[in-house]
Amino acid sequence: MSANKLHVRKGDRVLVLSGKDKGRKAKVITAYPRKNKVLVEGVNMVKKHARPTQKVPQGGIRETEAPIYACKVMVICPSCQKPTRLARRELSGGKKVRACKKCGEIIDK
Ligand SMILES: [Zn+2]
Repeated sequence: MSANKLHVRKGDRVLVLSGKDKGRKAKVITAYPRKNKVLVEGVNMVKKHARPTQKVPQGGIRETEAPIYACKVMVICPSCQKPTRLARRELSGGKKVRACKKCGEIIDK
């Protein structure tokens, strides 16, 4: 696996393996392969100061997700619903896809 390829992609359901959200299952909003990080729905929430807007002239604090390291999450297989390591398969057309190591199902459509 090259440094710029993550095992996890946008839209994957993942299990968080460590940190304050350990054990949480959620969807990947964005993947940042160059940083080896992912943004996961509702995980690693941080408070951010919002700029004042016309609606909220005093600005304020809102909570938003912060990226976490991709190695801290495990993909949940859509077929067997288990958190799993992934295998790489090459299809007959040369396309490379990810497959579940537990049930063998191909995860990428
Ligand atoms: Zn599976």
